[in-house]
Amino acid sequence: MALGKDYATQDCSIARALEVVGERWTLLVVRDALYGVRRYNDFLVHLGIPRAVLAARLQTLTTEGVLAKRRYQESPPRDEYVLTDRGVALWPTLRALGMWGREHFGDRPLRVFRHAPCGTGLGAYGECPACGIVVPAADVEMLPGPGLDPEPADPVSRALLRPKRLLEPLELEPA
Ligand SMILES: [Zn+2]
Repeated sequence: MALGKDYATQDCSIARALEVVGERWTLLVVRDALYGVRRYNDFLVHLGIPRAVLAARLQTLTTEGVLAKRRYQESPPRDEYVLTDRGVALWPTLRALGMWGREHFGDRPLRVFRHAPCGTGLGAYGECPACGIVVPAADVEMLPGPGLDPEPADPVSRALLRPKRLLEPLELEPA
């Protein structure tokens, strides 16, 4: 039997969450937003996603209050997408999902995450073993890991080679 479009018969908070973030690409858009990507074109080049799909995902995430749309330029009008508190709260889930992927499917880490104030590597659930806290996303420093292409073709990937904090807006080199 084919799965329906939604999980209306599932009275479960995981099913409810998947209504918002369970479509293909959606969590990768959220991941990029945590990395500091905010602009439509930057999501587009980094994800290599069809335009219509990206537009639909940004729309859903905005409607569901995961992203907020913010005008950063008036003429021509340009908007950027910034994570809300609801969106930032997905960070430990994405961290745990990434660690699950690495453990079970053997990927080399593309990125390394540290608790910025103390420099300790994060645990599997985004916690700092030294400080004994779950590290807020804004206090997480992201660095390139051994699996990352050191000379990527697109400008967003190049900008992400520099160590930075999560959520900090990504600074692209001038074209
Ligand atoms: Zn720490």
